Amino acid sequence: MKINVFNKGFHYSQDGHGNRLVIHLQGCNLRCPWCANPEGLEMGGIMMQKQENRPPRLSCEEWEIEDLLKLCRESSSLFFDGGGVTFTGGEPTMQNEALRQALEALGEMGIHTVLETNATSVTLPDLFPLVGQLIMDFKTADPKKHQMVLGPGGKILIKNIQTALENHRDLLIRFPLIYGFNTSEDDLDGFLSVIGEGPKPHGVFEFLPYHEFGREKWRQCGLEYHQQKAYVPEETLRVFEEAFRNHHLQVAHT
Ligand code: SF4
Repeated sequence: MKINVFNKGFHYSQDGHGNRLVIHLQGCNLRCPWCANPEGLEMGGIMMQKQENRPPRLSCEEWEIEDLLKLCRESSSLFFDGGGVTFTGGEPTMQNEALRQALEALGEMGIHTVLETNATSVTLPDLFPLVGQLIMDFKTADPKKHQMVLGPGGKILIKNIQTALENHRDLLIRFPLIYGFNTSEDDLDGFLSVIGEGPKPHGVFEFLPYHEFGREKWRQCGLEYHQQKAYVPEETLRVFEEAFRNHHLQVAHT
């Protein structure tokens, strides 16, 4: 079976525990205006414009799963400090069957796996047993706003977050904070109401303030970056983190 990859490389601790081979799978069902990986959005890839020393090129490469698994196996000496392989995107569940096969095979090899997901796939919980650490993006608790700004799946996202909080043993929920989109008191209340009362012994929570790392890539993809500047005041970040701590939720900075 084949799997489409638009980027891969090693990262330490930002995409899961330890040193990891991070594999970006092509395709995403959402269209977040601030997306930092616009080259990963279209299932078939996108032509990246000519850059200084590089000719125009298609964003993604097609890999045989066996070849990708071989690369993972050969990289295993670099998986220190609890590292392993992370699948991210785009949205990795867009290639669900290939992803499932890869996760199963890595589990059989004893390689730790992380899945980073926008959590809007209805079949996501089927993958939970195959994933060592689950990293879920939580952008809004308002399904209508989700639909209007990002795309469909806002209700599924909430259900998946709650299922993961009940069932997954190693969960990181990340909140990209975008000023004017999800930084009001109502937004904060919405996040907390989905997460629910009581400590979450297997869950940690991280707020990621808006950045513009993707802006240049939108240009390289021949796309216009429509997101208005949405930097989050320090005070807003502090209020969100404090509110979570006051609810006995563990706030992380990875
Ligand atoms: S879910 Fe992630 S990859 Fe997809 S559009 Fe949003 S930020 Fe980009």
